[in-house]
Amino acid sequence: MRIAMIGTGYVGLVSGACFSEFGHSVTCVDLNAAVIERLKAGDIPIFEPGLEDLVARNAKAGRLTFTTDLAAGVKDADAVFIAVGTPSRRGDGHADLSYVYAAARQIAEAAPDTCVIVNKSTVPVGTATEVERIAREVAPGKAISVASNPEFLREGSAIEDFMRPDRVVCGVADDQARDVLKAIYRPLSLREVPILFADRPTAEVIKYAANAFLAVKISFINEIADLCEKVGADVQDVAKGIGLDKRIGSKFLHPGPGYGGSCFPKDTLALLKTAEDNAVQLQIVAATVKVNDERKRAMADRIIAACGGSVDGKTIGILGLTFKPNTDDMRDAPSLVIVPALQAAGAKVKAFDPEGMKAAAPLLPGVEMCGDAYVAIEGAHAAVLLTEWNEFRALDLERVRDGLKAPVFVDLRNVYPVDDVLRTGLLYASVGR
Ligand code: NAD
Repeated sequence: MRIAMIGTGYVGLVSGACFSEFGHSVTCVDLNAAVIERLKAGDIPIFEPGLEDLVARNAKAGRLTFTTDLAAGVKDADAVFIAVGTPSRRGDGHADLSYVYAAARQIAEAAPDTCVIVNKSTVPVGTATEVERIAREVAPGKAISVASNPEFLREGSAIEDFMRPDRVVCGVADDQARDVLKAIYRPLSLREVPILFADRPTAEVIKYAANAFLAVKISFINEIADLCEKVGADVQDVAKGIGLDKRIGSKFLHPGPGYGGSCFPKDTLALLKTAEDNAVQLQIVAATVKVNDERKRAMADRIIAACGGSVDGKTIGILGLTFKPNTDDMRDAPSLVIVPALQAAGAKVKAFDPEGMKAAAPLLPGVEMCGDAYVAIEGAHAAVLLTEWNEFRALDLERVRDGLKAPVFVDLRNVYPVDDVLRTGLLYASVGR
């Protein structure tokens, strides 16, 4: 199959590289010329484990190319995937579909006479119908089908997720789209990955329902963590105890500073907007969003409380800024709420993140970015573990204690056994235990 991938961000670049690994011929298109220049030179603009090797291997084999010229990339394609951003529209929380529709227009103009446009971006229900309308308007004579193929990969394990997904969801309205998607995903169906075909609105709803459900799990366990703290229970054991029940499952039951990232916050909001537009109440999702917003702010209060009620004039050393480990993505990271709240309370903030500092620096003015974890906490009145990067899982706790001005360790990811930390003489504040 000849595939064009429009957008070479976290989803487009990983999907394009993985499709080429399947043996398809893939052209990745992005309007950001600097990004394409870097990709052509074998320099990967985002941090995603394994991606550099995957891109290099397939580029060398001639199956993966990069261009800013959308028309050239699309002209021979059997399928054109749209993987552009769908951020929250400023002010109202609706998904901003302007990038999707602009891409659809350009694709329809340049597409061959027969072609399938596939929405991989996360888009509200009805978007495939609108993309189809645009294609008919722009290119009435062409046999263009439109499909929905939402992506479920996670940053940090994106390649593994793409290559071994729990399922692939394809929303189609005709046989042309069904046949092309079947052919594209054949390498996965041979490996017994379930390929679920549904109609397009259903596929679109599946993506939002999946993200909303995962967000519900996170907010749920965070509230249970609050209860555990009050009643002397240990939320880690509670999560294990409920997660072993297969009806519940153990994943996404990790208490912490609230969910962030480029998907859950914007997708839960967009789903609520869709519900509102259709006069349906999604009260559980609404509560989840509220709990999560409050949670991030409450984490700053927790740090301040651990510092004796005030951080005015104190220094706080933050370990981890990205919304989760193994990514450099700072979009909607809890640190973007917690750090400014500490600064507003009078704290000076030092920080270290293995991959996120470049993206974080302009978003967190006044934060002193440091060369490693121990430098970040040197002379601080508290160390705060905010993102559970592997290298923060085995800190030399005695060195942490000796580096700090006051022996306060706030662990918002429950990385350490309580007794191990207390034994070193550190005062330890974690979540729900
Ligand atoms: P991103 O912002 O990292 O990348 C989008 C890219 O599209 C940018 O490089 C931009 O320059 C390019 N672009 C925009 N308009 C274009 C056009 N007309 N032609 C060519 N290039 C264009 O976004 P992302 O994180 O990869 O997300 C893309 C979509 O996938 C979103 O809808 C998102 O919700 C969804 N998604 C993201 C993830 C994730 O973990 N990041 C997971 C699943 C789904």
